[in-house]
Amino acid sequence: MNKIYDCIVIGAGISACTFASFLNQRFSDASILLIEQGRRLGGRSTTRKSRKNKILEFDHGLPSISFSKHISKDILTLISPLISSKKMVDISKDILIMNEFGILKNVFTNDKIYRSVPFMKNFCEEIVNQSMNPKKINFLFQTLAKSIKRINDLWEIQVDNGKIIKSINLVLSSSLIAHPRCLEILMTNTLPLRDAFIPGKDKVVDSVLREIRKLTYIKRKIYILYVSNLELVKNFNQQYLQIIFSNVIREDLSFERIIFQRQSDGSLIILLHCYYINNLLEINIDKIIKSLSSLFLNYQMFVDLFLQARLIDKMDWRASQPLNHLLPKELQWSSSSRIGFCGDWFDFNSCGGVESAMNSSIRLAKMIN
Ligand SMILES: Cc1cc2nc3c(=O)[nH]c(=O)nc-3n(C[C@H](O)[C@H](O)[C@H](O)COP(=O)(O)OP(=O)(O)OC[C@H]3O[C@@H](n4cnc5c(N)ncnc54)[C@H](O)[C@@H]3O)c2cc1C
Repeated sequence: MNKIYDCIVIGAGISACTFASFLNQRFSDASILLIEQGRRLGGRSTTRKSRKNKILEFDHGLPSISFSKHISKDILTLISPLISSKKMVDISKDILIMNEFGILKNVFTNDKIYRSVPFMKNFCEEIVNQSMNPKKINFLFQTLAKSIKRINDLWEIQVDNGKIIKSINLVLSSSLIAHPRCLEILMTNTLPLRDAFIPGKDKVVDSVLREIRKLTYIKRKIYILYVSNLELVKNFNQQYLQIIFSNVIREDLSFERIIFQRQSDGSLIILLHCYYINNLLEINIDKIIKSLSSLFLNYQMFVDLFLQARLIDKMDWRASQPLNHLLPKELQWSSSSRIGFCGDWFDFNSCGGVESAMNSSIRLAKMIN
């Protein structure tokens, strides 16, 4: 007979891992399965390992994690061991701002800004390792959850190889299968979450479906540049640097920030984040190098790097960060249907994306009985 999990979570990003870790702390024997379409942990905060050049590994999604001064005790308990063991490092000093006159300055903020080391994906791994009994947390990677059904008080999740996996509780850590953008991505005519219930059967689910339609996303395009000239790269004496562009530059060129990430052989990956609200545009690489060289006119070392840089890839994030109309936390759990929701699409007093994602996951893990 097929196994019935106590809880299936769709996704394996920060929300899903935080949720699984906290649920496991409460019910250390409960079986949890995370179903993830990607190849590894992390979701939007994941790390890419190049297939062509095995040396190259870099963070092509969320570059850093910031926490507000209102950080919850639960999150602090989770991240404190990572900070003291230097698996999470404060990078406030490695972040600069470029103003519209091309001058670089330090960032002054009350928020703590961290990076997980060696890579961002390690953050999710460490969160799972913090659980009471990690053996009870299972993963199914490269698997897309295509449809969900509630039959005889159990959840049946159909994945892309046709297999059906069952559980008592179901958690959506991503808005995808509830949000209209999934119609194009999953090539379906109806939303899988809508299909699971006839309208009027579950008031929480009806409200989630109604509210989520209003949710819009910031799009980002990441241009991944590579500088292999080790002689040149020697002059750049940092392991990591993030430069945030001023609003004027962002509005003018769509450039949001640029990140320099040292590789294990000394070479350098440069990630240019471009920010879009409506359409995701394509910028010609020659235009990018020209614009960067002119922005960094006062800093010859950067200009030299840009002139030697080669575009090796691009990454489109069509739903990189919710922009507005976040959902109220009261809609996180339906006890009658045993379905829950967590992620950065919930409103947690306007704290940043990762912090609200983690807050929502911890809150949900405490609600399930
Ligand atoms: C380039 C970039 C820059 C960002 N910059 C910022 C920033 O400056 N400030 C900020 O606050 N936030 C930023 N974010 C957003 C931040 O990364 C997210 O808030 C955070 O990672 C959310 O984590 P999550 O676990 O809630 O969601 P996710 O990381 O999206 O995890 C959900 C997971 O579910 C999986 N999934 C979804 N549907 C299915 C399905 N049907 N079957 C199987 N798997 C599925 C997805 O593959 C994904 O891995 C940025 C994101 C990106 C990509």
